[in-house]
Amino acid sequence: MAILYFSNSASSLSLLPLRKSLPGPCDPKLKPYISIFSRFSTMASISGSDSVGPSSAAIDEVPETGADQMDRIFDLTFRRYSSSSSSPAKRNGNGVAIVWFRNDLRVLDNEALYKAWISSREVLPVYCVDPRLFGSTYYFGFPKTGALRAQFLMECLADLQKNLMKRGLNLLIQHGKPEEILPTLAKTLGAHTVYAQKETCSEELNVETLVSKGLQKVVLQSSSGQTNRPSSTKNPKLHLVWGTTMYHIDDLPFYANSLPDVYTQFRKAVEAKCTVRSCIKIPTSLGPPPSIDDWGCVPSIEQFGLSSKNVSKGMTFIGGESAALSRVYDYFWKKDLLRKYKETRNGMLGPDYSTKFSPWLASGSLSPRLIYEEVKRYENERLANDSTYWVLFELIWRDYFRFLSVKYGNSLFHLGGPRKVEKRWSQDNTLFESWRDGQTGYPVIDANMKELSTTGFMSNRGRQIVCSFLVRDMGIDWRMGAEWFETCLLDYDPCSNYGNWTYGAGVGNDPREDRYFSIPKQAQTYDPEGEYVAYWLPQLQSLPKEKRNSPGKSYIEQVVPLKFGSPTRYQNRDTASASRKQPNGGHRQTKGQRR
Ligand code: FAD
Repeated sequence: MAILYFSNSASSLSLLPLRKSLPGPCDPKLKPYISIFSRFSTMASISGSDSVGPSSAAIDEVPETGADQMDRIFDLTFRRYSSSSSSPAKRNGNGVAIVWFRNDLRVLDNEALYKAWISSREVLPVYCVDPRLFGSTYYFGFPKTGALRAQFLMECLADLQKNLMKRGLNLLIQHGKPEEILPTLAKTLGAHTVYAQKETCSEELNVETLVSKGLQKVVLQSSSGQTNRPSSTKNPKLHLVWGTTMYHIDDLPFYANSLPDVYTQFRKAVEAKCTVRSCIKIPTSLGPPPSIDDWGCVPSIEQFGLSSKNVSKGMTFIGGESAALSRVYDYFWKKDLLRKYKETRNGMLGPDYSTKFSPWLASGSLSPRLIYEEVKRYENERLANDSTYWVLFELIWRDYFRFLSVKYGNSLFHLGGPRKVEKRWSQDNTLFESWRDGQTGYPVIDANMKELSTTGFMSNRGRQIVCSFLVRDMGIDWRMGAEWFETCLLDYDPCSNYGNWTYGAGVGNDPREDRYFSIPKQAQTYDPEGEYVAYWLPQLQSLPKEKRNSPGKSYIEQVVPLKFGSPTRYQNRDTASASRKQPNGGHRQTKGQRR
């Protein structure tokens, strides 16, 4: 078998060794491998069911499980979601198939991996570290992938490589553009098919087209088996598999391009007419891989011109499927937090008010169908209530934004959004920077923005508030906010990010989703004691609790007045108060009227 070597240069695919100096999965910089040494003091109280959040000094690892236990949880879950030895999956293919990993960095419920295995005798898993991922955002030139997400991605790769190795495969890590790497690999190995997960947004679609074109240029000899007849030729194929959503696109009761423009209509239709497909049962052994001398190493983020950043406060997320499954285990089974998700999900402080599945969903380290099956298992084994349903309700939002990207294409990224709304926007850089840096003079905005830049995460509540403030109170071009989120978020996903921003800016596909969030009212409702703001803005800690969100002269000056003046005036304008009080004092959203 050929020995494959590729250079780090995207343009030249000369046969050079991968840089030996690149850190591998055992690189001490990679968190999964050092978390066992308790890098940070994990807050002891978070296991308590009434925990509200971290103390100002603590850092919460998410998941909180150590590396050894993570491995055990992965192995247990793997057994549950693999084909059993009594009814093994049948492999009936020939030759080599390539799995091109993209935003599906997992082994479990990975249809591309499964199809590659079924259709071949040898599978080559590949990840291309595409330099375009580390370029700039489209309009405003921010870093396309910030250091924290880059680090998270590298951890995902290390974990994927480790988990594939446990199943008899490996992960070839190559630096460069997929359209250059994959055809070369297919040619060298004589691979008949490249399997990959289908994407829906233009940058990713463009790469799919280029890969497909590149493969068409590769000519493979297929032996006729008879010596006196010339052998025929064929090209390797790109086989794209749908895999990002909970409901499969082929099962929708409508074509994606005639998707309802109202979320509730979409949700009711899928709930009534579709079933969530079962997870693909992956075989326990996936080998052998083709013989490759150098599988490559997980790069360090410095190679992309980024400086590694240690999270100094708040939550630190560990990348990879093992961590993702451990978080599911922690949240559902160990801490039993699923039972009260609906009441806690609007929180802002600490790891436990919501699932925190989003970073792993975005990288594909976690399958939404696996979450679905775990929710159903929890409902059978523990209890079914509004909270267990509500996690699925939120995942349907995620599906909806994905399908909307198919319907509306690039208009999702345009200033006027899918409805081509004409509106005047400012691009005042000073104002934007005060928002970005958490220097607006409004504690709840500043605290959320500091959390984002420190950890790469922000609660859903926080995202809605800071989005409304930027676009409505500051009048800033919403795309500046969306692109800053693109840089920073660990869970950045083009469909969910731009979908939510277009809604927040009032330019989304649904004209009814045009809401103003009153900052004082949001602060009063979701941070009544000022704990959240005092955590992120320690200078507020000495103030009485009721003053922390309205500190007046004890805090920095407000950079803009609020659009609707005093808190009392805009109580009625706060359309987020479509939520109604529950008997337990929490806020809950009326079904289908979430934003
Ligand atoms: P939970 O409350 O536990 O929800 C469970 C899952 O449901 C989430 O992990 C997520 O996959 C899905 N979900 C929940 N709310 C939404 C929503 N509004 N839209 C889509 N899916 C949802 N989410 C992303 O995954 N990536 C993004 O880039 C992103 N950008 C956003 C930008 C703005 C302006 C806003 C308002 C929201 C954005 N969201 C995004 C949605 C949401 O804020 C996050 O998914 C959520 O906060 C993640 O935390 P969690 O996993 O604990 O969520």
